[in-house]
Amino acid sequence: MPPVYVFPSPETPSVAVAGTKKRFAVRRIFCVGRNYGEHVREMGGDPKSDPPIFFTKPADALVATGETIPYPMGTSNLHHEIELVVALGKSLCQADPAQADKAVFGLAAGVDLTRRDLQHAAKTNGLPWDSAKAFDQSAPIGAIQPISELSDSLSGQINLTVNGDIRQNGDLSQMIWSVGQLLSQLSQLFKLAPGDLIFTGTPDGVGPLHIGDQVIGHIEGVGEVNFRIG
Ligand code: MN
Repeated sequence: MPPVYVFPSPETPSVAVAGTKKRFAVRRIFCVGRNYGEHVREMGGDPKSDPPIFFTKPADALVATGETIPYPMGTSNLHHEIELVVALGKSLCQADPAQADKAVFGLAAGVDLTRRDLQHAAKTNGLPWDSAKAFDQSAPIGAIQPISELSDSLSGQINLTVNGDIRQNGDLSQMIWSVGQLLSQLSQLFKLAPGDLIFTGTPDGVGPLHIGDQVIGHIEGVGEVNFRIG
């Protein structure tokens, strides 16, 4: 017998898939910190000594491209971070990078919205990042582009404009850890499953957003994400 809930069950978060009416049902969202050298430097770190760090956002933090996102409460320094998002189509547990490459269903452009003031406070005080990263509507995302096979030498321009001005402009080839390496490392810590999304880190040029800003992120060969801060 199906369970009867005391409240209506929440909707399953999902993302559009390019070229089909079917949607990608989302299970978990993992994010990677410190994966582009210039961004590690702009945040005061050392790209050679800092391993990637993982954190999460709740699946219901996703926002479909084209929406208006209200300026979040609790911050006066909201930052944009354009990121390649990997959508998993297979399970992974303690996988090597080659196995991990084969588990990728598709790729999308996403933005890891960050309450930078709360992140600075968390770093200073050695506290968790949840309030800085895992807030409501903190994960705008474009349609997932399905791929048949992931290249282990991914390249292509990744950029973000605010009101038409270029703010972030990098290349996927600048990622310190490849997608396969990231998934392999993540799968040593968590059992990954179809429906998982992985935000793979941002190039340099992160900066503040204000009410009224129109944001467009683009990844060559992958797609676009856009939103307005309302
Ligand atoms: Mn990020």
